[in-house]
Amino acid sequence: MALPTYKDIVELLKKGATVEAQEQIMALREGALLLQEENFGLREKVKNLEESLRIKGQLTFDGSSYWLYDGSKADGPFCQHCYDTSGKLVRLQDWGERWSCFACKNYPEKKRR
Ligand SMILES: [Zn+2]
Repeated sequence: MALPTYKDIVELLKKGATVEAQEQIMALREGALLLQEENFGLREKVKNLEESLRIKGQLTFDGSSYWLYDGSKADGPFCQHCYDTSGKLVRLQDWGERWSCFACKNYPEKKRR
């Protein structure tokens, strides 16, 4: 969609074509609203991608499950299957010999860290 330019509208007003100028102003307003909506959607997308990148940068795989490292502090473990297939960090439960994922019903092996 090509938006009318300010120059086009000024030219119409100079010619006294006020109705056409008004139509162009309306088209411009509508275009601005659409761009605002698109901009909002893109900002959300960027925010989510930045968050994914931040998490990815802190994620470590121990050969069985994922751990989040924030400085020297480790948080986890998180399910490898769930993260690799859906991008979601699902906390694993301690089931003695193995970890347990309540979401995908996997029982990852406990690794020495
Ligand atoms: Zn899982």
